[in-house]
Amino acid sequence: NKQERNIRNIMRNRLPNKILNILETAGQMAEEFGTEAYVVGGFVRDLLLTRNNLDMDLVVEADGIAFAKKLAKKMSGRVKYHRKFKTAVVILPDGQRIDVATARLEYYEYPAALPTVELSSIKMDLYRRDFTVNALAVHINPSSFGTLVDFFGSQRDLKDKTIRVLHALSFVEDPTRIMRAIRFEQRFNFKIGGQTLSLVKNALKLNLFSKLSGYRIVHELKLIFTEAEVLGSIKRMNELGVLEAIHPLLALNTSREQVIAELERVVSWYNLLYLEPEISIWKIYFLGICMGISKPKIEQIYNRFSFSQTEKREFVHLRETIFWAAGNIMNIRGELRPSEIYKILSPVPLEGVLFIMARTTRDIVKKYISQYLTNLRLQTVDITGDDLKALGLIPGPQYTKLLYETKLACLDSIVKGKDEQFNFVKKRIKNLYNF
Ligand code: ATP
Repeated sequence: NKQERNIRNIMRNRLPNKILNILETAGQMAEEFGTEAYVVGGFVRDLLLTRNNLDMDLVVEADGIAFAKKLAKKMSGRVKYHRKFKTAVVILPDGQRIDVATARLEYYEYPAALPTVELSSIKMDLYRRDFTVNALAVHINPSSFGTLVDFFGSQRDLKDKTIRVLHALSFVEDPTRIMRAIRFEQRFNFKIGGQTLSLVKNALKLNLFSKLSGYRIVHELKLIFTEAEVLGSIKRMNELGVLEAIHPLLALNTSREQVIAELERVVSWYNLLYLEPEISIWKIYFLGICMGISKPKIEQIYNRFSFSQTEKREFVHLRETIFWAAGNIMNIRGELRPSEIYKILSPVPLEGVLFIMARTTRDIVKKYISQYLTNLRLQTVDITGDDLKALGLIPGPQYTKLLYETKLACLDSIVKGKDEQFNFVKKRIKNLYNF
């Protein structure tokens, strides 16, 4: 029941020339190499859904690493490879990446009793993928450039907006696919198909999540938490019992749900500001799903996620600074001076500041945080360590302290411009050190 149709024209219409050229070049090379080459996976899915996706995954029915090296040479790129997995990535001078994998029949374990003789390498490669919508390939050899190869009813599922696994043991093989199914369902506004949904429920009943490493769970959570819409996926994970299966303390409640909904608004507001530096959005949602878990109990979550000491320390620091700053800023009565806002919020990592913004219901606090993020945080002082040195002060921790004090004075407009700042530190040094 293999279905083929040529989508060359769709490709010409929808893909940038640069991408089309790369595919044609790779296809010609495959021909010279005496092999078949395909572009597969998310790239093809998004092409048919008319969504931009320039991440090309190529599969060749030959030594993928040798192929990648040759392609890199031809296109003046570099190549990085992974011998063990027979995969490589070609990086072109403009930064464009092309992933190359090897389709090898003997490489795969058969998930079910299949008549192996009937399977071509590309078919086997597609069969081990997560969902039908990700299991499409487009042939790129010159003679059949643009032939869409659909072995598993992928086109039908794209049309019906259905997420469907390729075989009944899919979630047993890899339970993280449950989280991937939810992510794609929410992203494309698709539905997990009926049978696939039963398989999800079965997998959860069989407690398959308990065997998953913390590392793999965190990887999938991060992917979910970097999607444009996160609340839908979190609610769906909760509904299906995924969150509880990861850890019982993670079951969603009304207050977490409300905060996560608000986090979504705060994060998209922040993204619209295009402020540097970039922040780790996933950490903010991580705080959201763990909201209300006490200090002794959160250890269980860190352990479930196999956090390293560094990651643990980072989250402990985040939660503690949030606790401290939120306590200070939410209890204030009356107006706060800019320097006071800065004193409260600057010790908190930006992820934590956004979290406080989502948690508060007070407009004035939201206003202060907005003022901090868009203005106070970014104001610089004109004097530097060199100026302090010129004043005869020996370098040390007092430098940071004096520059911080100068910044506070600038924020409150007590001093303006470099000269006034200079006089300000001079006076401070005199007071502090008597010279
Ligand atoms: P995205 O748009 O999120 O990048 P993608 O489909 O390109 O989606 P990747 O995570 O980059 O997703 O994976 C590339 C391909 O590898 C997918 O199309 C999918 O078929 C396959 N894949 C990824 N993870 C799994 C998995 N856990 N099990 C099976 N196949 C997977």
